[in-house]
Amino acid sequence: MKTSALRALTLAALSTWPMTTLAAKAPAAPAAPAVPVDLTAAPRMGTWGFDLGGRDTTVTAGADFYKHCNGAWDARTPIPSDRARFGVFEALNELSRARSRAIIEKAAADANATPDARQVGAMFKAFMDEKQVEKLGKKPLEADLAAVKAVKTKEELAALMGATQSGFGGAFFDMYIGQHAKQPEKYVAYLGQGGLNLPNRDYYLTAQFAEKKAAYTQYVAQVLGAAGWPQAGKAAEAIVALETDIALVSWTRVEQRDAVKSWNPMTPAELAALAPGFPWAPFLKAARLDRAETLVVGEPTAFTRIAEVFALTPVETLRAWIAFTVVDQAAPFLSKRFVDAHFAFRGKALSGQPEIQPRWKRGVEAVGRTVGEVVGRLYVEAYFPPASKTMMEALVADLKRAMGARIERLDWMSAVTKKRAQEKLAKFNVKIGYPSKWRDYSALQLDATDLYGNIKRHAAFDWDYDIKRLDRPVDRAEWAMTPQTVNAYYDPTMNEIVFPAAILQPPFFDPQADPAINYGAIGGVIGHEITHGFDDQGRQFDADGKLQDWWAPEDAERFVARAKGLIDQYSAFEVLPGAKVNGALTLGENIADLGGILLGLDAYALSLGGKPAPTIDGLTGEQRVLLGWAQVWRAKYREDALRQQVASGPHSPPMLRVNAVMRNVDAWYSTFGVQPGEALFVAPEKRVRIW
Ligand SMILES: [Zn+2]
Repeated sequence: MKTSALRALTLAALSTWPMTTLAAKAPAAPAAPAVPVDLTAAPRMGTWGFDLGGRDTTVTAGADFYKHCNGAWDARTPIPSDRARFGVFEALNELSRARSRAIIEKAAADANATPDARQVGAMFKAFMDEKQVEKLGKKPLEADLAAVKAVKTKEELAALMGATQSGFGGAFFDMYIGQHAKQPEKYVAYLGQGGLNLPNRDYYLTAQFAEKKAAYTQYVAQVLGAAGWPQAGKAAEAIVALETDIALVSWTRVEQRDAVKSWNPMTPAELAALAPGFPWAPFLKAARLDRAETLVVGEPTAFTRIAEVFALTPVETLRAWIAFTVVDQAAPFLSKRFVDAHFAFRGKALSGQPEIQPRWKRGVEAVGRTVGEVVGRLYVEAYFPPASKTMMEALVADLKRAMGARIERLDWMSAVTKKRAQEKLAKFNVKIGYPSKWRDYSALQLDATDLYGNIKRHAAFDWDYDIKRLDRPVDRAEWAMTPQTVNAYYDPTMNEIVFPAAILQPPFFDPQADPAINYGAIGGVIGHEITHGFDDQGRQFDADGKLQDWWAPEDAERFVARAKGLIDQYSAFEVLPGAKVNGALTLGENIADLGGILLGLDAYALSLGGKPAPTIDGLTGEQRVLLGWAQVWRAKYREDALRQQVASGPHSPPMLRVNAVMRNVDAWYSTFGVQPGEALFVAPEKRVRIW
């Protein structure tokens, strides 16, 4: 099964493990209205867009700006028991989920529903029919596990791994079809290091996660045993030892995010020479990639070593490994015994979440993952007013203007590089709300009595869709997120910024709010996505999305030196004992955050047209822009979830997306009167200035 096809840079990390992105305190599901609702139906903050009562004004801005803005909210807000973290993103996700549920239940109950709405209904019914999944028990797994048991040779094992792309199960090498980084008008097949079933290699190799690794071994034994796999305990030991070997030779997340080092196109023959320990021909054939002339390898040195691990591992262990990945991926769609075991490890042990989400929330999630754009179309009809799109278009134009002016003012960049940066900015594509055309799911068979089969058929349907891309030009209308997703992204090969409908709500975007709040919140988000086009990786792609260096060498050197300053600043933060922020891993997001809020401030100033900003409740315009930014990063974490994000995620924890960013913003010092000696104070000459 596909692990990740998304190369895009997202605004926020939302789910820590599949199927757990929902909160306990669901608002009552509103009935789907027949006419578009007003945006004000969603909750607004305070009287002008900011929740003044959520601040803790006993803490100064310079001591802890996150607490200054959000401390009272932090103190009064518990994390719901079915969440690993909770904040603004999750609260909006709740709303989105409740709305989606209303849409889905209506579709499920409508005898005259359109064919695609019937698919939505069938998928949801299949998920909600607990009696049926209980009755079936482990039966749905049997045919797939029998196929695993039947393999005798390494060639057959490799073929099995290739075939998992169209069903349940893992592989030592991940596959996806994406845009060609040198010829962005066409698609190409990508291969990446795989084989790990913990969040990243640190979980196998560092003392910080030793307990998690022990719990993992138990979990592997438990679900293999439940599935009837022979000698499950012994198999589990061998599986975890095998994955530890893979972890040892895998690239780190920092190495993986290097766009140049991870671009290694080669022929199948060159791949076979690079990693001779693995039977590539049967693998590629089973994955339907045997006709691909070019394969882009992400981590060449790891490929050689992982292939060696494959060659040295007994067939019996490899069979058990594949069997485990099938059961692990299928568990959320099987009987309670499997669901509970899966949650107890992936939700509770790894993320610290006390309780599993109610079944309906997981059902809405499952529908979103299979026929999400059908729900999205109905969501947009009901909840996304056309006026929001118009207002967003104007805001994006403001932010782009602000970026153009910043590029022009840079004192460290030469005129020739500035000109190319402006060309790139001018060519940004902008997508707001929802796709201009919707995905066609008509070839996907969804059956209200066959949950396991539905998930498998969806995986096959999706991979078939991807494979067929190899024969056609790039579809620029495609979206990597559904409209009901609370997030945003920049895609470097598309050179585009994308804002789904569900993020265009308070406190990100509120037509009723003081404009300063919107410039700080959604303006900062737009600025963040724009800046991704110019972060340490995004800057290596040109105006047409080509991975091609357009920088004068001395400008590139100056950029790298400035970025280094940011790496050092962030690396000094230890958010929990033993859990230090990885300044190199989070560099792209940190550059985007700094650029984002500076652009929000600039765009607000431009919007005033030379007039002074009004003062509201004693707060200046600049203060309100910065409060707007701080408010959207309200979030609370369970310790395990925070450790997981710090070890694995490209995003800094939300409190740092407020505190660490402000240290480099001159306007924050002046408008809040931050003084030397305060905890967050950085001397002017030491502040990092990039965009
Ligand atoms: Zn981002």
